Amino acid sequence: MTDTQKPTALCPDRYPEFRCIGGQCEDSCCIGWRVHLDKTTYHYYKNNRHKALFKLFEQSVKRSEAKSDDKHFGVISMGEDGRCAFLDNENLCRIQSNLGARALSPICANYPRRANQLGEQLEYSLSLSCPEAARLTLLDERSMHFVQTDIDPALTHISALGSGLNNDTGLMLLNDLRALIIGILQSRDLTIDARLILTGLLLEDFEAATQAPQPAAEQQQRETLQRYVALLGQPASLQNDIDQLQPNLILKMSLVTALLGEIPTSAHNTRFRDILKEAAEGLSFQDQRPATDSERIECHAKAYASYYAPYFDHHAHILENYLVHHVFHSLFPFARTTLIAQYRELVCNYLVVTTLLLGQAAFRKTMTAEVAVGTIQSYTRFAGHYTHFKETIERLFKEQNLTSVSTLFAVLANFRSSSTNPALTAADNPLT
Ligand code: SF4
Repeated sequence: MTDTQKPTALCPDRYPEFRCIGGQCEDSCCIGWRVHLDKTTYHYYKNNRHKALFKLFEQSVKRSEAKSDDKHFGVISMGEDGRCAFLDNENLCRIQSNLGARALSPICANYPRRANQLGEQLEYSLSLSCPEAARLTLLDERSMHFVQTDIDPALTHISALGSGLNNDTGLMLLNDLRALIIGILQSRDLTIDARLILTGLLLEDFEAATQAPQPAAEQQQRETLQRYVALLGQPASLQNDIDQLQPNLILKMSLVTALLGEIPTSAHNTRFRDILKEAAEGLSFQDQRPATDSERIECHAKAYASYYAPYFDHHAHILENYLVHHVFHSLFPFARTTLIAQYRELVCNYLVVTTLLLGQAAFRKTMTAEVAVGTIQSYTRFAGHYTHFKETIERLFKEQNLTSVSTLFAVLANFRSSSTNPALTAADNPLT
């Protein structure tokens, strides 16, 4: 960048269009969250004597209980109904309406925008936990692409999630890996499951190349990237090869049941609680009679063929946008864990989201854009709020021996396969 160039941030092309819809929002961000205050905002609120607000500031602005840094110095205590004390009857923020947007804490002012610092590059994206951001991101039929936008001086809450790479070559290689992952996830000649499996294979090979001594490691990593770029040029044979992989529907069923069973139905998150309950009902998880594995698989396969596939076969861009957004928003593959751990998290989120969507489709006997967006948004909000869920996922995947990329493939395939292979049993487990 020369001195005359303005600094910019990289963002999805729809990002600049986002506008909060305030009182019209179906799932206000001011209900059911813990709102942290930085030290400056905490003192500003505590010393503020505005006649409509000072009592609320006195009662509802508290010091954080846990040992906290300056960014998490205080907290707004929520009412018993989970609503922020500053919300009025029309779900509008009293701080903003009385003191202006500049009086909001950085977290409130920035949400649902997120800023990530990656080396010299700033990246902006939107959290899918906001319904309006989810609509904007998920429903675009075009492949998501990325543009440079002006720096937003109000966006002061910046995460630096980079992997601590200390050389430009390593950074560039991971950047190339990320671009290729996005390219694979947007390869519309392949099914979504095939794209995810190909991503896993790429990550496994890339990780293996990393183990070689330098400078051979770098060379092998580059060759791996080139090999997968070439593979993408033959989508038909690639899809055919991936279709040969045997799914393990029993294993998938048991993992999905365990995952959904671990989701606590928070009293305040009524929207997600309802979605979860309906999805479980749709998939007969709440049958009084214990269903056999094959009955359950049959139930899933029917729901898949009758309600899920007719919609998502023509609206695969919703799932594609979900995955591409996850890669960009979470700084995949730069996060401070292994490539395989990041892949496992991606697969798990995809598994939960698609199971909830399948359950919703079965419950409603149809699928719509509104239901798809609401399901993904409310799960994202739940997962962002309930931070222990990540650890739960790790534990469940370990319990099922789903630790390597190849073992994950067994649970990625969809329930379409059961109609052609109704006799699947535990003995078909490809892991054994
Ligand atoms: S969730 Fe999004 S649209 Fe709804 S009030 Fe919050 S920022 Fe606005």
